[in-house]
Amino acid sequence: MDDQFKKIISHAKEYGFVYPSSEIYEGLSAVYDYGPMGVELKNNIKSYWWKSMVQMHDNIVGLDAAIFMHPKTWKASGHVDAFNDPMIDNKDSNKRYRADVLVEDHIAKIEAKVNKEVAKAAKRFGDSFDEAQYKSTNPRVMGYLDKMQGIQDRLNEAMKAGDMTAMKTLIEDEGIVCPISGTKNWTEVRQFNLMFSTQLGNIAGEETALYLRPETAQGIFVNFLNVQKTTRQKIPFGIAQIGKAFRNEIVARQFIFRMREFEQMEMQFFIQPGTEMKWYEYWKETRMKWHRSLGTPESHLRFHKHENLAHYANAAADIEFQFPFGFKELEGIHSRTDFDLGSHQELSGKKLQYFDPELNENYVPYVLETSIGCDRMFLAMLSESLQEEVVPDSKGNETTRTVMKLHPVLAPVKAAILPLVKNKPALTEHAKKIFDELKLYTNCQYDEKDAIGRRYRRQDAIGTPYCITVDFETIEDDGKVTLRDRDSLEQKRVTVAEAKAIILENCSEASLLG
Ligand code: ATP
Repeated sequence: MDDQFKKIISHAKEYGFVYPSSEIYEGLSAVYDYGPMGVELKNNIKSYWWKSMVQMHDNIVGLDAAIFMHPKTWKASGHVDAFNDPMIDNKDSNKRYRADVLVEDHIAKIEAKVNKEVAKAAKRFGDSFDEAQYKSTNPRVMGYLDKMQGIQDRLNEAMKAGDMTAMKTLIEDEGIVCPISGTKNWTEVRQFNLMFSTQLGNIAGEETALYLRPETAQGIFVNFLNVQKTTRQKIPFGIAQIGKAFRNEIVARQFIFRMREFEQMEMQFFIQPGTEMKWYEYWKETRMKWHRSLGTPESHLRFHKHENLAHYANAAADIEFQFPFGFKELEGIHSRTDFDLGSHQELSGKKLQYFDPELNENYVPYVLETSIGCDRMFLAMLSESLQEEVVPDSKGNETTRTVMKLHPVLAPVKAAILPLVKNKPALTEHAKKIFDELKLYTNCQYDEKDAIGRRYRRQDAIGTPYCITVDFETIEDDGKVTLRDRDSLEQKRVTVAEAKAIILENCSEASLLG
């Protein structure tokens, strides 16, 4: 595991962001708990998403559907028959893998070779280097690119056809080895359904199989008409929901990137058939802007177009983020056609149609979905913001600090109120008064333990954008406090009212939503 990733995981635990679930019993694989700082950060992510989607769009409304749904829901959605991942075991290491991920990792290795060649050539040719031309003329690079395309095509075909024999042959042909044992001693590839099942009490003596929802979207689809009727929304309109989802993932080794219990923030946008490409582009752009608004640099975000479309989609792209282990899916934007509403209509026998006064006709709306994992967003924000920096200490010497440069809107604690020393009631009482006033407006901490420098470091480590220090001058002199900025380290003397105004303005969601 990459060093930076290890640091993120241990920092998350040490400062109360994320703990392994039921740790005293050795934990539960791919299940995690959010600690005091984690729950604040997660709530802030959810709140910013909710306000951007619901509050800022008068044609998007919210919903909170139950986790349990009638089992027929999952038949109609295709999850009972098709929500499978191809699974393969290595007989020497006894490790289990997703066969498609093994192949994708193999392709990524070839891509790394291409990137290496390109970097070398760029250095050699300097400013005159033309990457596109180089890739289309250099025989070695062309060979790599051809090979990648060939493997990708075979993978897509096998996945589309659900052909597990073809998948195994591809792994054998490419000589893919187990990263642990280094051998090619593989089992057959088998399909594995990712839904967790349980059962519903007792209906006339019969137990009924139930599933824990693997996505929140279906709760929106089955409520489509309820919501449309009660809100009198006209198409195009959307329904947004935040909630837990459960997947029995085959391999879950990347901290909170791939969990078995996780949270999704999904929005289904109901549109006229035939307008889906326009909305697909609109939501791709809108969602990408949302990510950038939080300060994530463009170079850490990219689109990845799906070649291998899910059974319900006619276009799909991921927004990928550069996690410490490479670019991976953070959010999906899917054009789901009328697949879901159409299937529910068919299986339930209930009409799920909309009368469009503009067209003067009834139809099953098409759907454009944006779906982001809250936990993945959390991990993206942790990895983006956790930094080590060399800064001058109070005596002007160089020192290293660990700082989480979270966007102030997401920061768990917005301001720390610190009396310069702890045993002076004049200072501590004044500081507590400021704390009592500020906590009415935003999440603050009062801290009097340890030297001031250490307290600043503690706040840096949890990403607190501002510290207010109360010192002797505050009491004797002008009532002014020192306001310290986490990122610039600037310290300025301001009145309490000024400090409050700066903190509230820069930490408020309005600063991003406007
Ligand atoms: P992947 O290909 O990584 O398994 P997916 O394509 O199955 O993801 P979707 O079904 O499109 O994912 O789910 C939408 C979003 O939900 C994803 O973009 C991701 O952020 C989040 N998500 C999906 N599965 C998990 C998981 N096991 N743990 C955490 N987040 C998840």
